[in-house]
Amino acid sequence: MTESRKGRDDQTALARLTDELVECIHCGLCLEACPTYVELNREEDSPRGRIYLMRSVAEGRAALDGSVLHHLDVCLGCRACETACPSDVKYGFLLEHTRTHIEEASHRPVWQRLGRRLLMEVFTHSATMALAMFFATLPSRLLRRPPSAPGGIVSRIMGGHGDGGDLRLERFPSLRPSRLPRLTPAAGEKKLRVGLLEGCVMPVLFPEVNLATVRVLSKLGCEVVVPPGQGCCGALHVHNGYGRQAARMALRNMAVFEAAQCDVIVVNSAGCGSTMKEYAGLFPEGSPERERAAAFSVKVRDISEVIAGLLEQADLKPVEMTVTYHDACHLAHGQKIRSEPRRMLSAIPGLKLVDLPESDHCCGSAGVYSFTQPDMAVRLLKRKVANIESTGAEVVATGNPGCQMWIRSGLKLEGSSVRALHPIEIVDLALDGATTSGDSPSRH
Ligand code: SF4
Ligand code: SF4
Repeated sequence: MTESRKGRDDQTALARLTDELVECIHCGLCLEACPTYVELNREEDSPRGRIYLMRSVAEGRAALDGSVLHHLDVCLGCRACETACPSDVKYGFLLEHTRTHIEEASHRPVWQRLGRRLLMEVFTHSATMALAMFFATLPSRLLRRPPSAPGGIVSRIMGGHGDGGDLRLERFPSLRPSRLPRLTPAAGEKKLRVGLLEGCVMPVLFPEVNLATVRVLSKLGCEVVVPPGQGCCGALHVHNGYGRQAARMALRNMAVFEAAQCDVIVVNSAGCGSTMKEYAGLFPEGSPERERAAAFSVKVRDISEVIAGLLEQADLKPVEMTVTYHDACHLAHGQKIRSEPRRMLSAIPGLKLVDLPESDHCCGSAGVYSFTQPDMAVRLLKRKVANIESTGAEVVATGNPGCQMWIRSGLKLEGSSVRALHPIEIVDLALDGATTSGDSPSRH
């Protein structure tokens, strides 16, 4: 394709976003909320600057290549700018649609496109993810070292420069993803029939979080259904420019959960929940799929939304522990959920919840960002770890597997004794559940 033809196509694709792009009044109130702007102090790496770049392409004043592509790639997609914006600019929508166009219009070298597609497939199937993690951790297995996976190789495949260092893991992942029972009855009187998203990362890297989720829901009176046939929610695809594939994944999950006839659909991963609540945006305006997706999303809940209320009548045992809470971006900014996880933790007797400075500042994990932009990801991780250490907490709780894995790795690299847990693991302990994680909580 010639450069001028490509430029016209870019202009046409982004022109569809004009109504949203012009909503930005350039006030700059989002700048200090943006982690990449705070680190780099450059307008082009701010929300306002990126919107300006998108608009320049839409109006034919700039080409979607070189530095424009770079500044869009450095964006975390954390949506902190949406929270800060008084004009309600839908930055996440703008970024996702622009990224979809970037991938579809072949703006990257062939080897990079193939690598990205391959990794999307690997990360979004539990079986291939388990296999990949097995091989990634093979060197540390053979050398009898603590479990770690070399982030550099993945980074290079994704188009990064590969200097992000190793990912420190809690234990060696199993070759076989851990599956949940298809049906777990409610203990006592049934209050709700809950459908649970099993996820792709959870069965491989955090099976204990899934097991704790089922135990807690059941003990609090929920019948838990894990419908067969469900798959990846599509979050990684949406955030990385593969909107069409994400739409196919959404249709599959919608069919599976509709057939299971649940009162609510519960998700224990912030990124997945945020995507599933926004499935409608994957389909064209006025299409029947969009309408169906909107009806589906009404039932989707983060685990904290369901548990916070049910815990009020529960018989909880004391957990003597000082905990701080990190707001996962797709929970705080994507789903606007901040109080429920804190309410959940505060309900536990003996537990002391302490504030985390910059609790909703991205940790740098951001899906596959830690592989594609390792420099920025590590800068943000170090900032997060320093903030966690400053609280004096023994545990940092966070409701997203990417954050949990990345922060855990950062804490280990810094030699910190703070443990990173999902809030549901702590609730499970208060309900006398058994945990299987090496980094699992213990009651003092
Ligand atoms: S999504 Fe996050 S990194 Fe990107 S512009 Fe908004 S605040 Fe900055
Ligand atoms: S706060 Fe909103 S309107 Fe103001 S510059 Fe940022 S995106 Fe634009």
